[in-house]
Amino acid sequence: MSRLATIDCDYVMPRLAAAFLRESKGEVAFIETNTTYAVPHLMEALHKEALDPKSVKYVIVTHVHLDHAGGASALMKLCPNATLLAHPRAARHLIDPSKLVASARQVYGVEVFDKLYGDIEPIDEKRVQQLDDGATVTLGASTLSFLHTRGHANHHFVVHDSEENVTFTGDTFGLVYPALQRAKRFAYPSTSPTDFDGEAAIASVKRVMDLKPRAVGLTHFGLFEEVTDIGAQLIRWLELSTKMVADAAKSGDEQGTIEQRFKWELDKEFEKAAVAAGLTVSDDDRQLMRFDLELNAQGLAVAAVRQRPR
Ligand SMILES: [Zn+2]
Repeated sequence: MSRLATIDCDYVMPRLAAAFLRESKGEVAFIETNTTYAVPHLMEALHKEALDPKSVKYVIVTHVHLDHAGGASALMKLCPNATLLAHPRAARHLIDPSKLVASARQVYGVEVFDKLYGDIEPIDEKRVQQLDDGATVTLGASTLSFLHTRGHANHHFVVHDSEENVTFTGDTFGLVYPALQRAKRFAYPSTSPTDFDGEAAIASVKRVMDLKPRAVGLTHFGLFEEVTDIGAQLIRWLELSTKMVADAAKSGDEQGTIEQRFKWELDKEFEKAAVAAGLTVSDDDRQLMRFDLELNAQGLAVAAVRQRPR
């Protein structure tokens, strides 16, 4: 038997962040863990499928951003036979999360951090397996292949599942929120701080498209079969973002000034792209978008300053 389920982690709001449950011949994998607070949703999904926590062979995180990996330590405690699969540059932050937690606490403030993420504990390094680019593991009748995909983060990989012919893309293949799919597909990338690299991000989108998956599994949010359409929209946004970064790098403007300008430009672009996608934009849509646009503007401004000759 082969099963694939999308789990709504109910992160901040419904249908914003997903995790996936895969089962093949009795072997189970979770792809993404979201936060500590999502772990009950993950366990419930297991229960619904009448699967035992002991049958979980792998917990996989595409990268260490906390809406992807924040629940890993809590989930690993409940799945005693699981091995955590991570990018070599991500693994050390899961084994010793102190730096990760400290920097997130600084970004969000302690109160917001605790409310969003809760406790993040170290994971025994004997239970962590690092996957090089092109590495594979077996899950029942499926081969899971790991492809390193820089652009959104330097320590990001995607997971291709041979049996389902689905690629789980983390944040590499952008954001496709169900709430914004009322007309055509509407996709945009996540260019959040601090690793964003436009050219690498475009190459990574193309790398996913070259796998020719039947569907992509996006953490934000769900399974989509329109791989070519979504990829084309992402490349357009990423080309625009790369040009914005290059122009701002040449200017003498400070990071804060650049960020303000980017926010305004991305807002305008969003309205245009929404019209092109046949979407009549509501205030709720704008609110949903605002968080990403602000984060995206921030990430692009950081990239612009980094690109300057020192
Ligand atoms: Zn991310």
